[in-house]
Amino acid sequence: MPNQGYQPKGTLDTRNPPQGGSALTERKRTSNIVSFSGGKDSTAMLLMMIEKKIPIDFIVFFETGWDFPGMIEHINTVEKQIGREIIRLKPNKSFKELFDKYGFPSLKGRWCLAYKRDTLRKFTNAHKPNIQWLGFAKEEAKRIKKTIGYCYPLVDWKITEEQALTYCQKKGYTWGGLYENRKRVSCWNCPLQSLKDLKILWKDHPGYWQELINMQKYSDWKFRNDYTLKELEEKFKKE
Ligand code: SF4
Repeated sequence: MPNQGYQPKGTLDTRNPPQGGSALTERKRTSNIVSFSGGKDSTAMLLMMIEKKIPIDFIVFFETGWDFPGMIEHINTVEKQIGREIIRLKPNKSFKELFDKYGFPSLKGRWCLAYKRDTLRKFTNAHKPNIQWLGFAKEEAKRIKKTIGYCYPLVDWKITEEQALTYCQKKGYTWGGLYENRKRVSCWNCPLQSLKDLKILWKDHPGYWQELINMQKYSDWKFRNDYTLKELEEKFKKE
């Protein structure tokens, strides 16, 4: 479990409230910005930071409008329980409008992530200096590219994905059952999710599956390169 007195690695010490003295009192304190997706890892990170009394200035969530209702409810519950605002960041155009323009995101054209990055950057640029706290689990350490200005406390605390989920579940979080048969929770219509997760969508959320079929009519891009939605249905029926 995390150590008390955690110091972010490879970053500035964020606990530097202004000291006495003119130059120092004028210096702006570094803000801690928690990037919160609502998933098990970032939820565990946020709750552990609060437990360890690590100062948090902003908690931000990027709203795509494509989240499962269970995820939205989870975010509202966390917000209420911790008594802190979770700032919902939105791109300057809705994902509906962007979908009409670009169609489904794909491995080569993840426009959704580009909009997410730009929207977050706009927020962080408006709150400089800052450190962004990201909920990468221990096994995701190899994904870390940027270290200056970023903190990965779950990696430093050696918290695995499974431990993060168990920790949240022990606190009573259920996400409306979303993690019962999934390892990760993404946007319900994410073409990059695994075939296993798509099968769950087809089987357990027929309304969303139908919505995908409707969306395909308006997308120049196929939902996936390997299978059409029809082919996926046939495949799932046979399994
Ligand atoms: S989960 Fe998929 S669709 Fe949603 S933002 Fe991420 S890559 Fe895009």
